[in-house]
Amino acid sequence: MIKNILFISFFGLVTFKLATAETFPVAAPVPGGIAIVDLKSDFNEQEKVFYGKKRILTRKINNTWQAVIGLPLKIKTGTHKIQIINAMGKKKYQYFSVANKNYETRHITITNKRMVSPTKKDIERHYKEKPLIVAALKTWTENIDVQTNFTLPVIGRFSSPFGLKRIYNKQKRIRRHTGLDIAAPTGTFITSPAKGNVIRTGSYFFTGNTVFIDHGQGLVTMYCHLNKTQVKAGQQLAQGQTIGTVGMTGRVSGPHLHWVVSLNNTKIDPKLFINTNASKK
Ligand SMILES: [Zn+2]
Repeated sequence: MIKNILFISFFGLVTFKLATAETFPVAAPVPGGIAIVDLKSDFNEQEKVFYGKKRILTRKINNTWQAVIGLPLKIKTGTHKIQIINAMGKKKYQYFSVANKNYETRHITITNKRMVSPTKKDIERHYKEKPLIVAALKTWTENIDVQTNFTLPVIGRFSSPFGLKRIYNKQKRIRRHTGLDIAAPTGTFITSPAKGNVIRTGSYFFTGNTVFIDHGQGLVTMYCHLNKTQVKAGQQLAQGQTIGTVGMTGRVSGPHLHWVVSLNNTKIDPKLFINTNASKK
C-alpha cells in the first residue's frame, strides 16, 4: 500500500507541471477539487473509467491518457481508487490521494425572513423543480474533444468563493456554497466558458433564471439568477458566445452570477478551470 502512495505523489508532481503549462483544469486533489490520474495504458476510446458508479472524463495530453475526477466536498481524505474497464470487460484499478482543505466560514445576517426560511409554497415549488436540476447535472455525452480551458463567463468581482461555509442568522446549520459568485451590474453579458450544448433553461425558486450547458463527458456548467436568458435548449454554443445577462432573479440579495461547474455529477471549484491571473478578481 505504501508503494502505491509514493507512486501517486510522483504523478501528482507531473500533473502540477502540466498545469503551469496552461492546461486546465489544474489538479487539486482536495474536497471540492479535482484529481488527475495518469492512466498509463494503451488506452483507447473503448475503455471506460469509473469512480464508484460515476463515469469519469478522460483526455489525452502529450500522448498520455488521463482521468479527470471531480471530488465532492464530502469526500474523505486518504486513498481512493478508480476502475478502468477495457472493451473486453477486463478491469484494473488506479489509486489517487485526497488531502484536506480548510474552507472559509462566514456568518451572514439576512433580514428578509423568506430568504432564510422559505414558505411551504416555496418549498413545494422547489421539490417540483429539483428533479429537473438533478437530471441536467447528470448529463453524459460521449464527446471525445471536451474543451476544458475555460474563459471567465463574466468579468466582475469574485464575491463568494466555492466551498464557503455559510451560517445564516446564527442558525446551527452550515450551508456550503457550491458555486463561484461573480458580482456584476444587472445586464452585464454572460458568455459560455467553452463550446457546448444548452441542456435546458428555466426559472426556478432558488436559482431564478437558469441555463445549463453540456460540455461533454459529464462536464456541465450552470448559470443562475440571470436577468435575461438568450439561449434555448438544444442550441450549440461556441466558447465566448453570449448566453444571457447578469440579474438577481431567484433567492439573492444583489445582482451576481452564481456559476456552478459540475464534473461527474459533482460540484467542484470553477476557479480550477480558469487562468485567474488573467481575470479581474
Ligand atoms: Zn452563489
